[in-house]
Amino acid sequence: MEVAKTVEELNPFVIANQQFDCAAEHLKLDKGMRDVLKSPKRQLVVSIPVKMDNGEIHVFEGFRVQHNIARGPAKGGIRYHPDVTLDEVKALAAWMTWKAATVNIPFGGGKGGVVVNPKELSIGELERLTRRYASEIGIIIGPDTDIPAPDVYTNAQTMAWIMDTYSMTVGATALGVVTGKPLAVGGSLGRAEATARGCQFVVREASAIKKIPLKGAKVVVQGYGNAGSIAARLLHEDGARIIAVSDSKGGIHNGDGLDPLKVLAHKGKTGSVQGFPGSDDITNEKLLELPCEVLIPAALENQIHLGNVDRIQSKIIAEAANGPTTPGADEILHKNGIFLIPDILANAGGVTVSYFEWVQGLSAFFWEEEEVNRRLEKIMKRAFNEVRGAAEKYNVHMRTAAYIVGVNRVAEATRLRGIFP
Ligand code: NAD
Repeated sequence: MEVAKTVEELNPFVIANQQFDCAAEHLKLDKGMRDVLKSPKRQLVVSIPVKMDNGEIHVFEGFRVQHNIARGPAKGGIRYHPDVTLDEVKALAAWMTWKAATVNIPFGGGKGGVVVNPKELSIGELERLTRRYASEIGIIIGPDTDIPAPDVYTNAQTMAWIMDTYSMTVGATALGVVTGKPLAVGGSLGRAEATARGCQFVVREASAIKKIPLKGAKVVVQGYGNAGSIAARLLHEDGARIIAVSDSKGGIHNGDGLDPLKVLAHKGKTGSVQGFPGSDDITNEKLLELPCEVLIPAALENQIHLGNVDRIQSKIIAEAANGPTTPGADEILHKNGIFLIPDILANAGGVTVSYFEWVQGLSAFFWEEEEVNRRLEKIMKRAFNEVRGAAEKYNVHMRTAAYIVGVNRVAEATRLRGIFP
């Protein structure tokens, strides 16, 4: 029985389309519209030859997918990971389409990836890889067409190299071609924290609905990078107790609470959260099953699945990561009364402040951090309430509700624009 239960579809693009179909059913979209919305508009596969430090040439594979541009330029991060596949990038690009539409910002969806373990490359090799990848995808990216951003194992430095490479090619500094840039070259205040801050805003909304005060709430965070470590810090500032966190090497646990900034400093020094003084080591699997009020998956896909969903004891799950829960697990979490804030809503703070950064770059006028955060809060709260309204209206869980809101907006844009020619 257990074996049969754990055999489930884990291809992210198939999952993304299942999630879409569920909303399309409620929206009564016809087959033609469904086919249009499910098909990625453009998929580019590139070879990236890199001269390594030892003089050898290594060819890496990279992707850039533009899933949909009905509501605006494609928008989405670039992931460097040894397990990246074209189907994963297609799924991540589709999720970007629905995410931008759910929070109602004028972008479509895109995503990029390179099959590489960046931890094995020197800084020089990483720069050459990034610049050649930027040059290869340069035929489809641009401030009006497709705007990359950071994702797993890429960061502000990666974006600076892409911006520079693109700018050298067009002969002018193009601030609008990527977001998540360093502040010194057109980044936005608040962008580094944006994904986590957006997540904090919706966790606050959910905790009010579930009547769970954040003060003293036990929080567990899987993945201690940009999204996870900052979410831990912000919820700690709200008075929550961060009882466990993890990274790719494993996790740490302290029932009395961890100091998120000290854990981050420890990771900076040693390369992992593990071994943090005063904490016990815990596996990533066990970490997800800890009793807590708020669980934040902030690493990779398919972490909560049919094989472990019955052991999840959190009251609220906020998906800072993209695709951490399988569709089968979604249904069971819902049945078990766990309030899940889906990725396309919970982590939309990143793309929202990316939008602000793009607007600031194009208008060459930069905002105070307070304004960035104020506008972000307004958008996240509005989107949360729209999704909650759809959940009630259609009697569905929050993921399907978010898809109903997002897919409906993209379908409307497609209907209004018509099918060319
Ligand atoms: P990051 O590279 O900054 O951090 C990733 C973290 O996950 C690292 O701490 C890494 O050690 C950890 N990790 C990797 N594999 C793991 C595993 N198997 N188990 C546990 N931890 C593991 O990346 P990020 O930008 O924080 O992205 C994390 C997630 O958030 C991704 O799903 C990404 O798509 C999503 N996201 C990021 C942003 C953004 O603005 N950066 C926006 C929206 C969504």
